[in-house]
Amino acid sequence: ELTAGQLRDMLVNVADRVIAAEPELSKADREVGDGDHGLGMTRGFTAARAALAGATFDDVHAVFTTAGNALLRSMGGASGVIFGLLFRAGAADRAAARHLDVAGLADHFARSLAQITERGGAAPGDKTMVDALEPATRALAESAAAGHDLRTAVHRAADAAADGADRTRNYLARFGKAVSLKDRSLGHPDPGALSTALIFTAMADWAD
Ligand code: ADP
Ligand code: MG
Ligand code: MG
Repeated sequence: ELTAGQLRDMLVNVADRVIAAEPELSKADREVGDGDHGLGMTRGFTAARAALAGATFDDVHAVFTTAGNALLRSMGGASGVIFGLLFRAGAADRAAARHLDVAGLADHFARSLAQITERGGAAPGDKTMVDALEPATRALAESAAAGHDLRTAVHRAADAAADGADRTRNYLARFGKAVSLKDRSLGHPDPGALSTALIFTAMADWAD
């Protein structure tokens, strides 16, 4: 279980890791996109970090909502909506809670995934961040059913997200500039899937 303060600290660690990864995320987006993914994520997570680090929270869902709103406002564009929803959508319409357990975390990302696929229209295999988020969400649900502790659950989700991001090398893009590259995008992972895997990895590392 995480308190709201612990969840805030976990997401501050996520922000630090995403910001530090700006060069590699930009490079990944230069291979298959327009090269701005690292800068967009840095802008978003700098805003999210500022909104989180200075605040105290009683409600775990408010922590996610604060992070998601900061991403949505500061990043702009399609990916701002996508990554805003990753944090915000799963927290919407949930009763205030002082703690987050594995089932709550699994529920959060399952709701976010549903919103992201509904709004963005991407399915698994389309070479987007969904290819990392969907297996991570499945791993969290399995951990909730198996009764894993939070640390184990987040590590398994991070491994699933990293595997999913790596598999995007084999996929042809159906969204964004990578579509026009056709099979020249093969061999290159999707930048948003890499970011999503990094987000789960940073959550797991914080939990250690
Ligand atoms: P842009 O494509 O506007 O330049 P970014 O480079 O910041 O934005 O982000 C690109 C990433 O956003 C992609 O690698 C992909 O993972 C994700 N993405 C884009 N469109 C969608 C979508 N419809 N559904 C899910 N993820 C998407
Ligand atoms: Mg881009
Ligand atoms: Mg762009």
